[in-house]
This record gives sequence, structure tokens and C-alpha cells, in this order.
Amino acid sequence: MAANDNISNNLLPVACPVCGECQNTTAGGIGADGLPAGPVACMVCGHPFQRDEYLRGLELRRQAFSRLTGPAGE
Ligand SMILES: [Zn+2]
Repeated sequence: MAANDNISNNLLPVACPVCGECQNTTAGGIGADGLPAGPVACMVCGHPFQRDEYLRGLELRRQAFSRLTGPAGE
């Protein structure tokens, strides 16, 4: 398992478990780890994401996204 998993800077919006929209608001910008530094909420219904919930959703989105685009050939 790679020790340096490279988190890309383009954060994918996570699907809201309440309304299903993929529109997030973040307060406090992006932290040094490439993740939102502050709380994340749904832009549409205002659902506040738990940190854990957000990270899980983000992982799912990343997997779905890489399946769509294929492996990036940089
Ligand atoms: Zn929502």
C-alpha cells in the first residue's frame, strides 16, 4: 500500500444523503491535506455533513469518477 497517496486538489462534490444533490458548501477553504478545512454542508437543503460521512462520500465519488474518465495518464 502506498504511503503517499496523492490527494488531488480538485475536490469532487459529494452527494447529499438527504436530497441527493452534489453541491457542497465549504467554510474555511481547503486545508493542507487537500480536504475542506471547515465544515461541509449541502448547498441545496443545508444538510451538514459529518466529517466521516463526507470522506466516505468523497471516496465513492472518486471511484465513480475514475471509472468514467479512466486512469489519468500524467
Ligand atoms: Zn441536500
